[in-house]
Amino acid sequence: MAGYARERLDLRGLVLGRRPYGEADLFLTVLNPERGLLELGARGLRRSRQGQAAAVELAVLSRFQIFDYRGRLRVDQAELEYGFPGLRRDIVRLTAATVLAELCCDLFVDASEEAAPQLWELLLHAFYALESAPEERLRLILHVAVLRLLTLGGFSLRFDACVLCGRPHRSGTAGVWSFAEHGLLCEEHQRAEAGRREANGEGMMLVPLSAPLLRALGWFQEAPPARLFRARLSPGAEVDFHAFVRELVGWTVERPGPSWQMLGELASFQREITWPRREAQETEGSD
Ligand SMILES: [Zn+2]
Repeated sequence: MAGYARERLDLRGLVLGRRPYGEADLFLTVLNPERGLLELGARGLRRSRQGQAAAVELAVLSRFQIFDYRGRLRVDQAELEYGFPGLRRDIVRLTAATVLAELCCDLFVDASEEAAPQLWELLLHAFYALESAPEERLRLILHVAVLRLLTLGGFSLRFDACVLCGRPHRSGTAGVWSFAEHGLLCEEHQRAEAGRREANGEGMMLVPLSAPLLRALGWFQEAPPARLFRARLSPGAEVDFHAFVRELVGWTVERPGPSWQMLGELASFQREITWPRREAQETEGSD
């Protein structure tokens, strides 16, 4: 094996994670469209010469000059390519982008290279949409991106067949989703699942999904990112869609990142984002 040369790399990256250490140093998690997620050490860049500190902020697109020391990547120079100023002017937009960044790091920590081109395209479009869309569209953009990230991350969600027996779901009709089984259930399995959970004293986590919502969910899984964030849903389907995605995250992501929590706490956003049905349940439960 050849000796390790100090290899110099020049690559673009979307900053998805930054952990400060010491006085002025950083560890960065950066998404590159060919290599996937990269861990970069960045010494001195937190308080560095003009321009470089802005290039290592969260949710920016930058160009990095990197030295590869035996597989450890060190940033030598960082230059901001695009700083998503619309995200930086609004805490809700920035937090929503951070939710996607954290989820991406969480889902793809070990295996990001194969999905890298798709992740790159998805996140860039999502960040552009989050920085420029009208406020009332933010929640839909975020949740569509979350759904797509979960799909890319290997949670195969099928909206066209029973998850247990594979019986095709009749298109154009409503369905019933089981969060415990991560999929649609045919009528037979709905009855079996309901009976089993009742016998075990477990809560029912079957939710009805309307035909328009099922169609939308299927489309969100496959649509090209350039079109994905222009989607519109009827008001009724949108309420159900938000409830579905928030519940889905609870069932699939072991520990949603701190931003997911924070987003729920941001008052101006919460008005929009809270699931009315859950709020009602909690009020009933506390009596
Ligand atoms: Zn079935």
